Amino acid sequence: MRVYQLARKLKISTKRLLEVLSEWGIEKKTSLSGLSPREVEEIEQLLKEEAPKPSEQKFPPRDPIVTFLGHVDHGKTTLLDAIRNTQVAKEEIGGITQRIGASEIYFQGKRIVFIDTPGHEAFTAMRAQGARVTDIAVLVIAADDGVMPQTEEAISHARAANVPILVAINKIDKEDANPERVKRQLTRYDLTPEEWGGDTICVEVSALKRKGIDELLEMILLQAEIMELSADPDGELRAVVVESEIDRKKGPLSTLIVKQGTLRVGDVIVGGEVYGRVRALINWKGENLKEAGPSTPVQVLGLSNVSQPGQIFTRAKNERTARRMAEEAREKSRKQSLRRREKVTLESIFSSTEKETKTLNLILKAESQGSLKAVADVLSDMGDENVKVEIVSQGVGEVKKSDILLASTSKAIILGFNVDVPQEIQALATQEQVEIREYQIIYDIIDDIKLALKGMLEPVYTEEIVSRLEVRDTFKISHVGLVAGCYVMEGKVIRGAKVKVMRDEQLIGEGTITSLRRFDRDVSEVSMGLECGVKIDGIEDIRKGDLIEVYQQRRIR
Ligand code: GDP
Repeated sequence: MRVYQLARKLKISTKRLLEVLSEWGIEKKTSLSGLSPREVEEIEQLLKEEAPKPSEQKFPPRDPIVTFLGHVDHGKTTLLDAIRNTQVAKEEIGGITQRIGASEIYFQGKRIVFIDTPGHEAFTAMRAQGARVTDIAVLVIAADDGVMPQTEEAISHARAANVPILVAINKIDKEDANPERVKRQLTRYDLTPEEWGGDTICVEVSALKRKGIDELLEMILLQAEIMELSADPDGELRAVVVESEIDRKKGPLSTLIVKQGTLRVGDVIVGGEVYGRVRALINWKGENLKEAGPSTPVQVLGLSNVSQPGQIFTRAKNERTARRMAEEAREKSRKQSLRRREKVTLESIFSSTEKETKTLNLILKAESQGSLKAVADVLSDMGDENVKVEIVSQGVGEVKKSDILLASTSKAIILGFNVDVPQEIQALATQEQVEIREYQIIYDIIDDIKLALKGMLEPVYTEEIVSRLEVRDTFKISHVGLVAGCYVMEGKVIRGAKVKVMRDEQLIGEGTITSLRRFDRDVSEVSMGLECGVKIDGIEDIRKGDLIEVYQQRRIR
């Protein structure tokens, strides 16, 4: 028997088993080595005799929450459906299920919670609010396609969140499936399969033919067991929003997963600016629950509004307190949006007097695999004893929303090497206070990083006008201030963009678009030929006939 197989049998990690073996002086260096039946018996006996570790786990165990990540079309949705349908069929609930953003299944008498494929963006957005929802990430890789750009991205996101990765090699029914090639590729990302001596659990599956599903579920349970997840059902309530929508009849609906404590009908809860008395709790099978304990996803009725994924809800004493807390949160977020959040930039990162930041986190985007590798190789050698250069994520292609979110949560700077940065991404970066630096020449990157590491870099900007608006009217709105009714003459205007206000070709002032509305709806962008209401922070004097120039700032050398 192989070491990793024994580890599975004993329900401990391969790493732990190898540790035990070396403690006993048994020379089995890798999990590949074979063990004779006598040795297996001996080890089992020794493990039994090993004094049980004093359990640090004060609370009852909690069921695992799992998210599927991976490249588009590699089969995340099909796999999740296969798991659910098999279970739904087994439980004979007629296949009628609610789409609430998460589901639970029972396998071998144990419960596993799945988050509907949220994509990497949502995965990181949930984390950005400080709520780690996922316990285990299942990385789905199609056996005919292998590791692709979004697979790499998924690995970076899971790693940044410190979530263990389990690999499902899918589509093994296909003629050109090559699971061995996938495993070879995985070794490059430090995800060496167990059977090859590493400690990544890999399961070969076919979502379409429903093959390997049971083994995948078994491995998820095994991983969960190793993690010893626990939560206090009687502790303070902490529930995290997975998704949220407005239903025409029922009003705001939010799916929450309870991480700690127990959520009950009648509870008054508050999360950020949203609060309410829980009128009903509905699970993914459409059943009404009276209460939901740890690791239970439920749709909650009775809240005042929708919330962002990742928002944490807690219990409040009564509705009055909840309302007050929500109002305070609203006031705080308003003030925060006025005050500029501190931004991490290459110039500032090591020039600050307290030399606390010792790691320069980077996200690299390049036009091709070849140049990406070249840049990454150079950069990873650049740190010294004082500062570490860490590449949090790297990928081929333009800078995307998920890059910004990852940069924002991991306080990283994005370096673009001959890649595009779309306008809306630039605006998001401004909003999230993320720095994107663009380069055409590799030596420029090296020079900048060298200077930055010494804290000696000066910023250089260029400005590019991306859209022009004509002010057709202005309004004073109480609590909001001056709003300009504008017509977009050219380009596209985006909330969060920087603007200059011109009157008779004279600069009146500069500011940032903090609110953008079409009719009475908040929107994130408005295109050419349309009218919109604009609130600009930083300028109080706007008049009919003024010209607003929306510009994009790019840092260059
Ligand atoms: P997602 O984008 O990762 O959610 O991928 P989907 O689940 O939408 O699957 C993409 C395509 O691959 C669909 O046409 C599926 O039918 C197909 N597919 C998924 N799993 C398998 C599988 O195990 N075998 C085969 N042959 N096709 C699959």
